[in-house]
Amino acid sequence: MAVKFQDYYKILGLERNATEKDIRNAYRKLARKHHPDLQSPDKKEEAEKEFKMINEAYEVLKDKEKRSRYDRLGANWEHGDEFNAYQRYQQQQRPGNGWSQAAYGSGDFDGFSFSFGGQEGAGSFSDFFESIFGGAFTGGGGGATRRQRRGVDVEAELEVTLEEIYQEREKQLQFSMQDLCDKCGGTGQLGSSFCQACGGSGQTSAAKTIKLKVPRDARHGKKIRLKGQGGDAEAGGERGDLYLKIKILPHPLFTLKGDDLEAKVTVYPWQAVLGGKITAPTLEGSVRVTIQPQTHNGHRMRLRGKGMPRKGGGYGDLYLQVNLDIPAKTEPEAEELYRKLAEISGEKEGYGA
Ligand SMILES: [Zn+2]
Repeated sequence: MAVKFQDYYKILGLERNATEKDIRNAYRKLARKHHPDLQSPDKKEEAEKEFKMINEAYEVLKDKEKRSRYDRLGANWEHGDEFNAYQRYQQQQRPGNGWSQAAYGSGDFDGFSFSFGGQEGAGSFSDFFESIFGGAFTGGGGGATRRQRRGVDVEAELEVTLEEIYQEREKQLQFSMQDLCDKCGGTGQLGSSFCQACGGSGQTSAAKTIKLKVPRDARHGKKIRLKGQGGDAEAGGERGDLYLKIKILPHPLFTLKGDDLEAKVTVYPWQAVLGGKITAPTLEGSVRVTIQPQTHNGHRMRLRGKGMPRKGGGYGDLYLQVNLDIPAKTEPEAEELYRKLAEISGEKEGYGA
């Protein structure tokens, strides 16, 4: 595990003996200077990187406990190569090190794509930060070094289509997650030497497959909790939970409004005037719908119970909005009739036409 050392003091332009006030002032000044929203477009990306590092440095140095942990590591780091320092640091810290697991991964499987957010804030820090502080600090508060016996909760995004919800289809997710090493139980050590299986990190990456039925009340932003499918726990602890945050993919025909669906249907001029039948889409396939005589553009028709399944049972409605249009091609015979229509209509122009 090659992790690049970050000099948080240097990032904030501070000496090692900087006071809390020095740190706060340096942070404020730099954060303002490098704030991505205040940069010209060509400098934005670079500013974002710098801004992130400034925030990371401040996150560590403003916190007494984190700072002293960092200072101890920094001294080790400078004397040896990075890997050895990292190993030494681990050795000092285990057991009871407050580390926790974080899941990661991205990919595409069976038409299902997903991405992991991890815990709050995870992923927005450098590997270096993660390797020292892991997820243990994201719980916040004074219990920063508290050992988490329970595995961390992991959040992932679950992309679903309206059809998959409607049919309560089963989906398969595959991703990789950091587990505690089976060989050493997460200590990174076997007897007096480092565990070969995990290279002393105490963690192994494991592929996982989860099958789940998309619930009928799945809606955008809703979270599904899969108990015990999250991060691995210290020996004897309980696994964390996996939260799947629903993301409904855009549908070419339907817009979702609560439990109701909305769609546009094309109606031709003669149908609008005389009435008739058109074909309309539903999530169960197409249906025939009656158009009343004298139907105007924008008119809404309700198809009861053709919307999305409701939580307690039953279904929402489907609203069809009339979109008055002409066929792509006008036959000469039809054109003749339009001319006649124009003649009859004479001066009757539409208001604002
Ligand atoms: Zn191991």
